Amino acid sequence: MTNIFLREPKLYTNLTAVRRVSVVGTDAAVVLDQNIVRPEGGGQPRDHGSVTVGDQVFPIGQVVKSEGETWLRLSGAGSAPPEEGELVSVSVDRERRATLSKSHSLTHLMMAAGKKCLEDFDSKGAAIDEAGQIVTISFRTSSVVDDIAINMIDAVVRHLVAKDAPVTFTTVKSLEEGAKRFPRWRVDSTLGLSGKIRVVDIAGIDANPCSGSHVETTGDVGPYRMFHDLVLDGDIYRFSAERTRTWMYWFGEEALIGFDWDGLHTRPNRPEGTPPHVR
Ligand SMILES: [Zn+2]
Repeated sequence: MTNIFLREPKLYTNLTAVRRVSVVGTDAAVVLDQNIVRPEGGGQPRDHGSVTVGDQVFPIGQVVKSEGETWLRLSGAGSAPPEEGELVSVSVDRERRATLSKSHSLTHLMMAAGKKCLEDFDSKGAAIDEAGQIVTISFRTSSVVDDIAINMIDAVVRHLVAKDAPVTFTTVKSLEEGAKRFPRWRVDSTLGLSGKIRVVDIAGIDANPCSGSHVETTGDVGPYRMFHDLVLDGDIYRFSAERTRTWMYWFGEEALIGFDWDGLHTRPNRPEGTPPHVR
């Protein structure tokens, strides 16, 4: 079995055997010996790609994980489905995977920046739109999240992109080990994770249990613009950013005067003595 979480993801298989086949209307769903196609998960949409059976190429529709198996739905393969044991090859759309990786890494940087700038920051998941360009993060905080706070987060994310920090994967035996090992540990408390956990470590910036795909260094995330339309759903805040072809704006040097990069995470965002803000 290929590990789809390898540092250099494999995006093409040579021949691999069909293990299970199921016809679904005009489509066929297959389980292959070797899986390199990522299903939707952790807010990251599924890969695109195709499976070549003989001289026919079928686009991959849905990718469904069920009972530890990954089923690929092959559009239009229902009338002549591949047979069990037949050798086929798979290719994953490289550009889409790269797009999703950039966006997924951007969500981690936004979370890390949120944690630096806001008090009692608690990650509540992230999402990437189907096209892979717009990302949204959800979180709790006791700080006031206003335009100034979003500008601060924006400035920190931009700084983290410019830092071009390496992104690496590692495994920890438990949440406790993760919390002990990584000074920038961040975990969604409601996920109920246990046992062995895959951790994405952005050097000196963020360490977080994650199954998504990522860029190699934060510089690969590239330019983006942050939206200020803040949604408050119960006590969960949500805001988005869009990856862009070029940097779209600068918020003025004055926004960075007195910026204490190291101390940022301890800097209170509201005057002392005022209660946490709730809207
Ligand atoms: Zn992630």
